[in-house]
Amino acid sequence: MLTAHFLFHGALNDFLPQRQKATRIPYTFAPHQTVQHLVEALGVPHLEVRQVLVNRLPVASSTRLPDGCEVDVYPWEQESLPQGEARFILDNHLGKLAASLRMLGIDSLYRNDYQDDELAATAAGEQRILLTRDRRLLMRKVIPRGYCVRQDDPQEQIKAVVQRFDLYHHIRPFQRCLRCNHPLQPVPKAQVLERLEPLTKRYFDEFAICPACNQVYWKGSHYDRMKGMISELLKSE
Ligand SMILES: [Zn+2]
Repeated sequence: MLTAHFLFHGALNDFLPQRQKATRIPYTFAPHQTVQHLVEALGVPHLEVRQVLVNRLPVASSTRLPDGCEVDVYPWEQESLPQGEARFILDNHLGKLAASLRMLGIDSLYRNDYQDDELAATAAGEQRILLTRDRRLLMRKVIPRGYCVRQDDPQEQIKAVVQRFDLYHHIRPFQRCLRCNHPLQPVPKAQVLERLEPLTKRYFDEFAICPACNQVYWKGSHYDRMKGMISELLKSE
């Protein structure tokens, strides 16, 4: 057996038990194991890792390590996405985060009854970024990109995801159904008039409808909440 000495940097320490945080961890391994395998054996999902240095030189995740080496593992701080690639799928515990992303107009699949296999297969098949509370799920090889959501507070969750994937330039408010993720279409007021409450009828003129689930939207309380959220997010850019 061989031994390597791992040091995890920054937010990767979130995945380690207290005694292993910010300290060099000796780890014994067999010669056939890759550095990616060893990082995950220590509890850190490889999709959270931006770079690995072995004896201070960058290596690929498939590298096999020499005995006695020092391994430094660095987290992603910000991963920018080309237009069209800000597409997510969220696990069952993240309903509020999914609604916030949809409010920002970002394509976000969510159901409260997804099975793990279905989440992994859809992330792989549709090249979606998996957002999950379950780091073991994130370790599945088929998943192209992902983030382990550590925050409990939905406000903190959306801040972290927008920051991590640099979503500031992908925000298109009032464009997507909060219930089902389908893009909205503008609709003339006359066409939805009979479905509106008296006050909505009186004070609003601009409406949109979801062609998939038929939900009607207007720039009322949802919209104000969304604008508040966006200005908060942009403050922390
Ligand atoms: Zn809908």
